[in-house]
Amino acid sequence: MRIRIGATSDIGRVREGNEDSLLVEEPLFAVADGMGGHRGGEVASRVALETIQRLFEERTGTLAEQVERANRAVFERSQLDREVAGMGTTLTAALFEGTHVRVAHVGDSRAYLFRGARLRRLTEDHTLVHRMVEEGEITETEAETHPHRSILTRALGVDPAVRVDEAVVEVGGGDRLLLCTDGLTGMLPEARIRDILGQIADPQEAADRLVNEANAAGGVDNITVVILDLEESTGDDPPSTATTVGWAPPTPPEPGAVPRPPARARNRIRLAITVGIVVATILVGLVGVRLFLDSQWYVGVSDGQVAIFRGVPAEVAGIELHSVVVETPVDAEEAMALEIYRDLDEGITAADRQDAEEIVERIRVDVARAAAGGS
Ligand code: MG
Repeated sequence: MRIRIGATSDIGRVREGNEDSLLVEEPLFAVADGMGGHRGGEVASRVALETIQRLFEERTGTLAEQVERANRAVFERSQLDREVAGMGTTLTAALFEGTHVRVAHVGDSRAYLFRGARLRRLTEDHTLVHRMVEEGEITETEAETHPHRSILTRALGVDPAVRVDEAVVEVGGGDRLLLCTDGLTGMLPEARIRDILGQIADPQEAADRLVNEANAAGGVDNITVVILDLEESTGDDPPSTATTVGWAPPTPPEPGAVPRPPARARNRIRLAITVGIVVATILVGLVGVRLFLDSQWYVGVSDGQVAIFRGVPAEVAGIELHSVVVETPVDAEEAMALEIYRDLDEGITAADRQDAEEIVERIRVDVARAAAGGS
């Protein structure tokens, strides 16, 4: 099989830096969408992709294991370097193995298979709104424009361990694979993405068109697109060393970019994992726990008010693993009356303090909107 590649990463029209990264290292391809203030997102996505690339070259572990190691690498870096504390990243990787492609995935970047004019999503978003769709609380269409669609339930680098989704899909000549960050899917409906993939044969042209249209639609986020076209090898084409065409290097990130505040939080799944890890960590050493807890932030309820906490919303052996940092004037009961915040008392995890403050602000706005007559 021969692979023709189109790839591009664009800052978009609103962000001041590009926190997305991409990896094009046939037969391994990946996109990552970093988050976390003060260059954190940029570092997180880059460290994650560099790690899987290195492990792949060393032939260490399976793709899913490489992604787990990338998680660990981002997590450790964020523990060591205050400048990037609390950073995280999505990661969606595709590894071609003969007649199959193996997809490993964490977060809300996506992999799609375009075949015979149909676009099939190969990954599941690890987002709060996806869970709400699964539970029948909102429709798929509502999810596309939901104000909280970027709240992740899983990301790389946030905890010492992460669960990686993996899928293996049979592929053949004529198939087109798309890897992209949410800067594309948040701007263009899938029907439009499908049409462009169907209309433009050249993978680089198609990638550029997708980015241009996402920018024309607002370009509110960084946009990264990798398109992989599979062609049956001709007789003299060695299958595993196929040449690549149409590949252009990604736009380098803006130097000295102003950090974009993180706009994401993770929720209960992550908390459950966190608590498990905290329990294990306590057995290892209280100093480690202290450092770990100091780096954790969440939004919860204190004395009937929405509050920002440091630590995790749990207690172990009667010891509370958190402390209130700020009690806000926002009434917790009014917030929890809104479907999306109904579990607020269990805590909404934040990447850092700034992220926690942003979550509070979103809650405040939503509560005010509901009070003003919104549903
Ligand atoms: Mg993004």
